[in-house]
Amino acid sequence: MEERARSCLLRSKATLEQDIKASYLMDHMVSDGVLTNDEEAMVLNKVTRREQAAALLEVLLRKDNRAYISLYNALIRESYGDLANLLHSDLPLLSPEGERSFADGVSPSVQAILSDGGVPQRPVVFVSRPALLNLIRQKLYQLQKTSGWVTVFGMAGSGKSVMAAEAVRDHALIKDCFPDGIHWLSVGQCERSDLLVRMQSLCFRLEQGQSSEASHRPPCSVEEAKERLRFLILRRFPRSLLILDDVWDSSVLRSFDIQCRVLLTTRNRGLTDSVSGTRFEVPVENGLDEDKALEILSLYVNGKPQKLPEQARSIVSECKGSPLVVSLIGALLREFPDRWSYYLRLLQRKQFKRIRKSSSYDYEALDQAMDASLQVLEPEHQNLYRDLSIMQKDIKVPAKVLSVLWGLELEEVEDVLQEFVNKSLLFRDCNQRPYLYYLHDLQLDFLTEQNRDQIAELHKKMVRQYQKFYNESPPSSGDKECLYWYHFLPYHMAKAGLSKELYSLMFSLDWVKEKAQVMGSAHLINDYVEYGEILDKENSEVRLQFQEFLSLNGHQLEQRPFPDVVQLALSQPACSEVYRQAALSGLGEQKQ
Ligand code: ADP
Repeated sequence: MEERARSCLLRSKATLEQDIKASYLMDHMVSDGVLTNDEEAMVLNKVTRREQAAALLEVLLRKDNRAYISLYNALIRESYGDLANLLHSDLPLLSPEGERSFADGVSPSVQAILSDGGVPQRPVVFVSRPALLNLIRQKLYQLQKTSGWVTVFGMAGSGKSVMAAEAVRDHALIKDCFPDGIHWLSVGQCERSDLLVRMQSLCFRLEQGQSSEASHRPPCSVEEAKERLRFLILRRFPRSLLILDDVWDSSVLRSFDIQCRVLLTTRNRGLTDSVSGTRFEVPVENGLDEDKALEILSLYVNGKPQKLPEQARSIVSECKGSPLVVSLIGALLREFPDRWSYYLRLLQRKQFKRIRKSSSYDYEALDQAMDASLQVLEPEHQNLYRDLSIMQKDIKVPAKVLSVLWGLELEEVEDVLQEFVNKSLLFRDCNQRPYLYYLHDLQLDFLTEQNRDQIAELHKKMVRQYQKFYNESPPSSGDKECLYWYHFLPYHMAKAGLSKELYSLMFSLDWVKEKAQVMGSAHLINDYVEYGEILDKENSEVRLQFQEFLSLNGHQLEQRPFPDVVQLALSQPACSEVYRQAALSGLGEQKQ
């Protein structure tokens, strides 16, 4: 660390020790790559808050300029504006380390702008995502001549913040569009009082270097802060970019609706609906390509992607390339390089709680990240979301099915689903009509894990709702919803433990007739195999009779016009249940 910076840190040491909470600051510093996990653990081992602060400063004093800059940024992000002020005048412009990390065309002046604005550095392990990066930059260029909003949205841990920071690491973009600076604000889930503190710290940052007569007391309310910011941006930083990271609530955005240029990251797509100005959106895919995800793992373990053990691919496919999860696992593997199989098993067993990471990510593990997403839903919607635990992996569901499950009007259901989609809690396939909805595998795993004790009950609810809705006649439209029920009703019954209902459904010639008509015979045969064990407890003979009937007549059941199933069934041996039901139904028809 250069002399000026070290001297300043030494002078400010007593004040810093008195006020800072080391654990908060260290999260940012680990993520900036200036503090190792071991150093963090060593500091956390100290008993009191003050001892921890002293130990942290001791460690930092032995480090380079990057550590100083990182501490400064962490103080700003944790709203210690006055303490950051102590360090501001001696901020090193550029460290040799920093220079190296910005070797890809980013000039020292850009580095200085980003440091000043508190833009986080790249994660230590980083892979490029050129297409996404270009898209964000392209949208940011749209703000060259006008104020407006660029929303980068996607699910938790998909890499939004990392890419937002990366997007502004670009000399030409800053020069052309935001020559007055970039200002990063971590928003997160915050109450109004927290929001005020964050806005105060931004005002503070923007007011740095103003003559004393213009220096103000901090604004006392969000409204006052909004006005102050409006003034500051308009008069002093008209062509600057505000980056609001991890925004949850549109009321937060309204507090920044001051005709400035904003890039925001969020899980909630529709947030900018309530603000004025031009709006652009950039969706972030949930997962990285396999190659990129493997690259992350290899960077963590200092190896070449080609030399990774075979479990690496399975780990990537198990988490569908989620940058967050791959990084979580990579960080663990760096410490325990012989645990590939173990972590793969953990992932397969969904024991996310045990996959810990001590970095700046706001949540210790994915389940907590998901949990946090859920907590912001209204309790009623939380319950509806919980019901989705019964969805099947990779199966997309039309809204109509959920309207049966929830007993709600279709339009109401669509609104709820829209909310889930906006919050990245659910995905929508818009290539199909009607739209189909599905969960990311990790979300489904999270839900099933979280509601493990209630899964059977939830499946039961699905079956009961179906029965209630279709008590007069089964679905016959042949649309996506109808297909869903014929496909998955036995599945829900089996999962609900409703064995009796499953027997009566599957040992019914009517069901066979209806399902074969809608879906052909292959699915049906598969059902008898799949649920054979349950059915056999009731009557393995009957199960075989149905299976045999289908095997013999499968090709006929594929024909259109659809054959007379009763006639076909009457050609079965007289002792067969299939025959008995056909004979009965024949009698019924004769009586009519
Ligand atoms: P989000 O903002 O979408 O919740 P973040 O941007 O915070 O997600 O990313 C979550 C974690 O995923 C990061 O802490 C980092 O470990 C990892 N990550 C994200 N993007 C990348 C990337 N391009 N290269 C390497 N790791 C990444």
